[in-house]
Amino acid sequence: MAVKLSENAKLIIDRLRDSGYSCYAVGGCVRDSLLGLEPHDWDFTTSALPDEIERVFADCKTVTVGKKFGTVAVILDGHPYEITTYRIDGAYSDTRHPDEVRFSDRLQDDLARRDFTVNAMAYNDTDGLVDLYGGQQDLSYGVIRCVGEPEERFSEDALRILRALRFAAVLGFSIEQKTAEAILRQRKLLNEIACERIRDELLKLLCGDKVDFILRRYRTVIAVFIPELQGTFDFEQHSKHHNRDVYRHTVAAVKNVEPDPLLRTTLLFHDIGKPLAQTTDKYGVCHYKNHPKIGAEMTREILRRLCMPTAFSEEVCLMIRYHDERFKPDPAMLKGYLKELGAERMKRICKLQRADIMAQSAYLREEKLSNLSAVERELDRILLSGECYNLRMLAVSGTDLLHLGVTSGIVIGETLDTLLSKVIGSELPNEKEILLQYVKKTFDKV
Ligand code: ATP
Ligand code: MG
Repeated sequence: MAVKLSENAKLIIDRLRDSGYSCYAVGGCVRDSLLGLEPHDWDFTTSALPDEIERVFADCKTVTVGKKFGTVAVILDGHPYEITTYRIDGAYSDTRHPDEVRFSDRLQDDLARRDFTVNAMAYNDTDGLVDLYGGQQDLSYGVIRCVGEPEERFSEDALRILRALRFAAVLGFSIEQKTAEAILRQRKLLNEIACERIRDELLKLLCGDKVDFILRRYRTVIAVFIPELQGTFDFEQHSKHHNRDVYRHTVAAVKNVEPDPLLRTTLLFHDIGKPLAQTTDKYGVCHYKNHPKIGAEMTREILRRLCMPTAFSEEVCLMIRYHDERFKPDPAMLKGYLKELGAERMKRICKLQRADIMAQSAYLREEKLSNLSAVERELDRILLSGECYNLRMLAVSGTDLLHLGVTSGIVIGETLDTLLSKVIGSELPNEKEILLQYVKKTFDKV
């Protein structure tokens, strides 16, 4: 597969070349193009210094992303294109940031600082592909390999450890042996990395197609920043419903759901409370009654540490609390849950439950799945029918009760709740006149 530059990519390269500089598309966009994928953004590397880049694009909107690091973003059609001066990264004393950045006028210096061979290729239409480290071959064999000595590269910037796992999971590549050994040996360096960088890579890793393999093979790496998962490693579940230990079950469940960060994160933590929640009955059978609650609390702390946005984290924790709820295709029961959780969340929880069931043993699997499908059908029916399940849908409002002469806010609230539960339970129809009649009658009685 050849690299096909987009119109804007061509424009950027041509402009810089016409001004006497060299310029190439580089990194992820070249890798993805060679794989036949559509690059999600184009990055460029050039001999022009940041001020010179700004001068060449003086008539365009530019944003200085990090002048010290040599990056200027040129905005074309509302989209940022990052252009970075050829760089030689200096010593790394804190395993995060190069202490100094030196600009260079040689492309090969810039390619040498890049993380993996498949990310260290540059391209323009004049010179074609510049591949100094065998990136094309590694792409065709599906291999993630460090540029240079893995040990050295990971100690320069430990985030590369997680990036290697991410690329392997997303691209479905294997990790070259020396690179893999260095990852396992140097995993603890990840402790030095900012939570935001870990978070971003972790979410991408989780959405990878080969996430299951990577989470199993490199579980000790994941445990560096999520030590709580260690409790689930090899933790056998003495239950007919399971034929895997908690961690292996977890990984299988993650893989069973669509690649959505919210769903996959929830499944990664859904059973993390099990080791702490385990009790054994007189027959030697294990139970995990409180594990959703315990797991949600553990997960809140983990996600806080990983700097996940609060709304995301609260959503994950709420779904963990409800992941093991035994839904039945019963309208009153499901309307109660809809009232509590809302329609979208209920649908998401059903997806989680399917992934969870599919990662359990075959025991009662058909029954569990057909119950879940019936639940989903009933949910769809309720939602399509417009039947009432929350106060907003109730035919009577607080104002109606005020008009009836009920003035206490507390009584209004309690009355509406009573009406709603009677409507949900099909004891009363959701019709204004009938509901108001009912209210009048009960108030007459007292
Ligand atoms: P994607 O954008 O698809 O996530 P990418 O390869 O473009 O993947 P970016 O994080 O956008 O990844 O980085 C762009 C390029 O910069 C990479 O391809 C790589 O050449 C280089 N790079 C990024 N992070 C590092 C790093 N920590 N160490 C060395 N090189 C890096
Ligand atoms: Mg990129």
